[in-house]
Amino acid sequence: MLEREDLFYKQKNVFDILSDEELKACEEYARGYMRYLSDARTEREAVREAVELAKSAGFTEYVFGKQYSPGDKVYYVNRKKALFLAVFGRKPLSEGVNLAAAHVDSPRLDLKQVPMHEDSEIAFFKTHYYGGVKKYQWVAIPLELHGIVVKKDGQTADITVGRQEGEPRFCITDLLPHLGAEQMKKTMSEGISGENLRIVIGSRPDASQGDDRVKLAVLKILNEKYGISEEDFLSAELMAVPAFGVDDIGFDRSLIGGYGHDDRVCAYAELKAIIDTSAPEKTAVCLLVDKEEIGSEGVSGMQSRTFDRFMDDICRTGGADLYECYSKSFCLSADVCNAFDPTYPEVSDKRSNSKLNYGVGIMKFTGRGGKSGSSDASAEVVGRVRRMFSDNGVVWQLGELGKVDQGGGGTVAAYTANRDIDTIDAGVPVLSMHAPYEIVSKADCYMTYKAMLALYKEN
Ligand code: MN
Ligand code: MN
Repeated sequence: MLEREDLFYKQKNVFDILSDEELKACEEYARGYMRYLSDARTEREAVREAVELAKSAGFTEYVFGKQYSPGDKVYYVNRKKALFLAVFGRKPLSEGVNLAAAHVDSPRLDLKQVPMHEDSEIAFFKTHYYGGVKKYQWVAIPLELHGIVVKKDGQTADITVGRQEGEPRFCITDLLPHLGAEQMKKTMSEGISGENLRIVIGSRPDASQGDDRVKLAVLKILNEKYGISEEDFLSAELMAVPAFGVDDIGFDRSLIGGYGHDDRVCAYAELKAIIDTSAPEKTAVCLLVDKEEIGSEGVSGMQSRTFDRFMDDICRTGGADLYECYSKSFCLSADVCNAFDPTYPEVSDKRSNSKLNYGVGIMKFTGRGGKSGSSDASAEVVGRVRRMFSDNGVVWQLGELGKVDQGGGGTVAAYTANRDIDTIDAGVPVLSMHAPYEIVSKADCYMTYKAMLALYKEN
């Protein structure tokens, strides 16, 4: 008969378990992640930085049709916005692969295609928000601008302004409280409208005569610096993101504050894990995909056939059938979950919500209402994860996104599961998810990395 201690389900705080040596490894891991997050402000930059890290670890660009051997490390970039990495295993591909899938796009403010205008001698960029944002959080904070402009002649101008110290930044205004009485009566979703999310980009008029002299002066600066005119914005992809650093949070430095933890925190975990994996039993595959925040649609999202093309080529050159490989594969959909927030306890069922510092958060299902839109992993899959994590010293917890009928969300899990791949969500719990400045725990980041390492070791 089991004793009381073993009869109850008890969770453990990672800090009560980690040895001094592991605490050091945890801090070192966090430093590496913080550097990555600081450099990866957009999906393009997240892919670019990941490729740099992979190349310096010996990964080479995948060549379609080429036959690879166990231990070979390859990467494939899809349209500069998504990245697939693989380390070939000893077992044939007909036995499946171990797959981790994270996304590298984050909520932000995209510029409209005709973004520039002048109003009352102030020049603005108008925006169209991307992903689930609470609009009131994006006013009166410093913003930086990232992206590309494709000119008529096909040349591309890269634009990054505000990331480096000393560069100008941008800002959306908010109403002063003295005159905000009417605004404050509105609901939080109506208080700041989407059309009012316009960014201040200049105020000094050009010395010439005529209309829109401030806008003209800004256009002259842009033309001089990047060789572009207003029409070039039609074929531009520019986005404003928070101009915040990536910081230790708390006197004890146990947490990390920064923009874009969702989902670059899991992207980095699987990237670092596949870099640290050599000669696995089964082929290890790491996916960093785009467009999750708007439904995983499109050519760079998880629903894109680009993934199937890559996997099919790997399988064919390895003498395996793609569908057989899929059916024997296993996937951790590496995406963040919500951490229990004691300031807002009413939205969570405390017993089944992920908590800070309790390790990587597993979500058997996501979705909303009656689990609608979720792939809902089987008990067998959860059982497999329990065993895999306990065999490898991974501290983990099972979470649910808030109370029943409180709200909901989704991940890429459904899109790998739809392909006949057993899939379950596993990721870092986040406080203030989708805010311009999100918080995660270093201990949970480290455990998510260990979870990905364990996945790639599976045979
Ligand atoms: Mn996410
Ligand atoms: Mn998200």
